[in-house]
Amino acid sequence: MAPNRPDLYGCTREELTARISAWGFSPVHAARLWRYLYWECAGSLDAMTELPAKVRARLDAETSLGVLPVEREQLSDDGFTRKYLLGLGDGRAIETVLMRFTGRATACVSSQAGCAMGCVFCATGQAGFGRHLATGEIIAQAVHVNRTLRAASSALARSEVSQRRLRNVVLMGMGEPLHNYEPVMKAVEVLRDPNGFALGAGRITLSTVGVVPGILRLAAERRPVHLAVSLHAATQEERLALVPVAKQWPLDELMDACRSYSGQTGRRIFYEWTLIDGKNDSADHARAVGRLLARLPAQVNLIPLNPTGAYAGAPARGEAAKAFQRILAREFGVPSTVRQRRGLDIAAGCGQLAGPQ
Ligand code: SAH
Ligand code: SF4
Repeated sequence: MAPNRPDLYGCTREELTARISAWGFSPVHAARLWRYLYWECAGSLDAMTELPAKVRARLDAETSLGVLPVEREQLSDDGFTRKYLLGLGDGRAIETVLMRFTGRATACVSSQAGCAMGCVFCATGQAGFGRHLATGEIIAQAVHVNRTLRAASSALARSEVSQRRLRNVVLMGMGEPLHNYEPVMKAVEVLRDPNGFALGAGRITLSTVGVVPGILRLAAERRPVHLAVSLHAATQEERLALVPVAKQWPLDELMDACRSYSGQTGRRIFYEWTLIDGKNDSADHARAVGRLLARLPAQVNLIPLNPTGAYAGAPARGEAAKAFQRILAREFGVPSTVRQRRGLDIAAGCGQLAGPQ
């Protein structure tokens, strides 16, 4: 990507229309350009043959198209999970995952190269912080996945038609999205655009480690995302041992922010709980989180621990996960799901994205 030139993937439709109009061209060309970017997933300006040459020449001279080159692609033995290592302009690289196991195509996108939050069981955290991603670098990941789906679609059966286009985006890849608030929110705006990806209500989920000011801001600005909060422990002391930033945003403050978020928006929050054998998977733990969430609009997502290089813990056993769910449901009326373990052979599971290694 050319430095200092605006990335087309980093612009909203309004911004592109304003730019093209300011050059004296008809807004019709902006609409076409948008369609090429997000419907056709064109990989270059040259492929946009219905755009007049003079519009393309101006775009070529003054903007860039931040397509991210695929440095590595891995397909899991499960046949449903693909992981891409995408190169950034500065030599760094990030990982993006395409998951098809829900019957719908979901992209798990990264919001940062690395992560500054340092959760002990997470490979991204273990690798440390590289930098924030720009809006265009977030969108380019979704475009890449969508392009892959379009290319594969001719080989798909009719019954798989729902998988031909990207249906869901989860901001659960590398990085902490609320640590990179504005570029992430602009990306949400682009993803929701009805003339582009058109990812409407409920199709974008943002997962946070618990950045309290970010949660409050999401609520105040009524941002149209599903919110997932990574809890993992129901006491400050236990949480601090897993999630170092609990020091900055203690559990009490986090729960106050969640209460206020649900109160203001009327939305349920997903609470993620990485289940670690012998650490946070006992009946007492289930009761502690049940008490914490009983009066909130909540659903718990239990994620059996995935292996990472620098953390020795083991995933909770299947029976422990089932018992945990039973207690949450029967004693506290809190619904929960256990996340399917997929893509572990290619290190594409939750918390396994470490970038180029
Ligand atoms: N930074 C955000 C989103 C990315 S991580 C966050 O922390 O919420 C997505 C989810 O995977 C989080 O709930 C995170 O706690 C969880 N996770 C991290 N490492 C994991 C591991 N080794 N096994 C299972 N889940 C893990
Ligand atoms: Fe960062 Fe999330 Fe990993 Fe924690 S779990 S280190 S916040 S990516």
